[in-house]
Amino acid sequence: MQDGLLAGKGRSWQNDTIMQAEVMAIGDELTSGQRLDTNSGWISARLGDLGIQTAYHTTVSDEIDPLVDALRIALKRSDLLLITGGLGPTADDLTRDALAKALGVPLELDEASLRDIEQLFAKRGVAMPERNRLQATFPRGTRPINNPHGTAPGIHFIHRRKDGTECELFALPGVPAEMHQMWNETVTAQLTHQAKPSQTIQHLRIKCFGAGESAIEQRLAGLIDRGRDPAVGITVHNATITLRITTAGDSAEQCAERMQPTIKTIHESLGDLVFGEGDDELQHVVIRLLAERGQTVASAECGSSGRLARWLSEIGTTTYRGGLVASAEAPESLISQSAILAENGATSCRDQFGADYAIALGPIAESTVRAGGEFYYALATPDSVLLKSGSTTGHPDHLRDRAAKQALNLLRLHLLETE
Ligand code: AMP
Ligand code: MG
Repeated sequence: MQDGLLAGKGRSWQNDTIMQAEVMAIGDELTSGQRLDTNSGWISARLGDLGIQTAYHTTVSDEIDPLVDALRIALKRSDLLLITGGLGPTADDLTRDALAKALGVPLELDEASLRDIEQLFAKRGVAMPERNRLQATFPRGTRPINNPHGTAPGIHFIHRRKDGTECELFALPGVPAEMHQMWNETVTAQLTHQAKPSQTIQHLRIKCFGAGESAIEQRLAGLIDRGRDPAVGITVHNATITLRITTAGDSAEQCAERMQPTIKTIHESLGDLVFGEGDDELQHVVIRLLAERGQTVASAECGSSGRLARWLSEIGTTTYRGGLVASAEAPESLISQSAILAENGATSCRDQFGADYAIALGPIAESTVRAGGEFYYALATPDSVLLKSGSTTGHPDHLRDRAAKQALNLLRLHLLETE
C-alpha cells in the first residue's frame, strides 16, 4: 500500500478540524495481560494538551501478520499514528519489519544511527552484538528519531495516501522513561510547529451521587448527545457518576469559559445530586463542609469492612475523630438488632469520640453483606439521631463501597440542608 512517503518534511493539516490520532501499543506482554499498557494513556493525555483528539487505542501482539494488518488499518484511517514498543534488537521486536511491509518498502541501514548505537556500547565498555545492527535499519524514506538513553532510535515519517491526505507516524521505544524523553525532546516540537500550536483540549469532571446512570442522563436531556460541543460523557463507578466535559480552544481559559454554560445546566438539572469536581469523593466533600463550620465527625460500621474509617482517616484531618469497625461476619443475633446498633452506634460514637456528628451503618440481614440487600444508616447530629434504611445492590465487592457512600451522603445532604 505504498501511497507515498514524505519523510521528515513539515506538513500542514488539511482543514481546520481537529486531528484524529491513533495510539498503538505493541507487545506480547500487553496482549497477554502480563503488563498494563500505560504508554497509550500517557500519549493521549499529551496529545490532548496539544489539541489533538485520540480516536483509537490499538494494542497488538509481537506477531508480524497482526502487526501489518493493524498498521495498514491505522495508516488508512488516522491523521496521526503514535506507536510504542517492538523496536528492540531481539527476534520478537518486529515493528520496523511490519512497518516496511505495510508500506511496501525495504529496510535500509542508516550509517549515522549505527554509529550512535556503536558509541552507546563503547561507552558501556562492551562490544555491540551483531543483532543491534538491526536497530539502525529503517523502512526506506523514513527518518530516525534520536534516543539519547537507549539503543532503539525511533522512526518518523509522513505517509501520503492516494487521495492526497496524510498520516504522520512516530514509532518510539516501549520503555516508558525513554519514550517520555523522546516525546518531550522531539515529538512535541514536531507536532506543535505543524499542528495548531495554541489549541488545547480540556476536560472537567463533575461527580454525582444519589441516582442511577440512566436517571441522571434523563435529567440532562440532550447534553450527552454525540457531536455536542462541549461534549459530555457519563461513566459510573460504584454508584458514583462522573460527567466528563470536554472542549477544545485556544487556551485553558477559553475552554473554561466555553464549559461554563454546560456546567451551569448540569447543576441546575441535578441539584444536590452533584457533590464535587475532579478527584473529589464524598468523604472529601463531607470533611470540607464540616471543616468550614469548625465541626467534627466520627463513624461506626458493620458490614462495610471499615470503608468509612479508612476513607475518612486517609484524608488526614482532625475533622474526623475516629471510628468503630465491627466484623462483616457479625453473628445473625447481632445483625437482627442492626437498627438499634446503627442508632446506638451513631450516638455513642458521637459522644465517645467527642464529635459533633457520627454516621453509622449496618446490614439488615447477614446475607446483605454477601448478596446485596438492605442496610440501616444512622446519622447522629449534635442534638438528634436519624435512622434510614436503603437497599444496595451489586457485586459484593462493590456493595461495601456503595453502603459506605450512602452513609456519607446522608451526612452531606444534612449539612447542605442546615447550611
Ligand atoms: P519494547 O520497546 O517493546 O522492547 O519494550 C520494552 C519494555 O517497555 C517492555 O518490556 C515493557 O516493560 C515496557 N513497555 C512496552 N510497551 C509498553 C506500554 N505500552 N506500556 C507500558 N510499558 C511498556
Ligand atoms: Mg516488546
